[in-house]
Amino acid sequence: MVLESINFHFWPYCNFKCKYCFARFESSNLKLSFNQCIKIINDISNAGIKKINFAGGEPSLSPFLGDLLKYSKNLGLITSIISNGTGITKNFLKEFSKSIDWIGLSIDSGLELTNFNLGRGNGNLVKKIIKRSVLIHKTGIKLKINTVVNRLNYQEDLSWLIKRIKPERWKVFQILEIKNQNHPYIANLLISNTEFENFLNRHLFLKPIAETNQMMIESYLMIDPYGRFYQNTNNSYIFSRPIFKVGIESALNEITYNPKKYIQRGGLYAW
Ligand code: SF4
Repeated sequence: MVLESINFHFWPYCNFKCKYCFARFESSNLKLSFNQCIKIINDISNAGIKKINFAGGEPSLSPFLGDLLKYSKNLGLITSIISNGTGITKNFLKEFSKSIDWIGLSIDSGLELTNFNLGRGNGNLVKKIIKRSVLIHKTGIKLKINTVVNRLNYQEDLSWLIKRIKPERWKVFQILEIKNQNHPYIANLLISNTEFENFLNRHLFLKPIAETNQMMIESYLMIDPYGRFYQNTNNSYIFSRPIFKVGIESALNEITYNPKKYIQRGGLYAW
């Protein structure tokens, strides 16, 4: 089985309130300690996984993200952060840039009001992401942009923004409904496959890497803030027992994962 990269949602809390968020862990009464995270990172490395994406919630709010990055890099892992930009500051990059290969920043629109209406920040996200991208480029860390296409932005032309930010990769996701996560909040934001395709066609020259709802099902390896694998199976999540209790192999056997779909959605690329 191809086990190349993993999204480690180790930090449950976030300062944004995105309506479509499908990583709502804040009601968790448990979060992983630093030592539990280290144990999981060791297991990930021993299982032959090559790349670790630190995600949340918002991972840059964690006081020990930098130390987890350093530890992972020392083990030889390719490291990445998926962030809304909050803690990706000059000081953070100065201290930890040598331990980071990729940073993914999330932004959906070139219009401050649209991001705000989606719950993404307090109305200055465009300015913030542009500033952060300049800082990231200066360090030599590779930059990825994630955009969720939904009812509020599917007719927009984001070319100017992407040309300004100049990411190495631009990932474009069709808004995804997940039961018990965003299900009650996003009925007005869903779009059809055709509307998603129209958005892609408008931006084809920028070579977006697109993921439809179908492509996202069972094509990611993800660990939640309880240390469990979780998986999107038919638009709801299933969970394993915690990895630090049963080990990575047993936990992996408790979820479904389709490595072919991982490759089909472009999961393997030049890291
Ligand atoms: S920034 Fe990410 S984790 Fe935070 S609410 Fe938005 S989608 Fe969820």
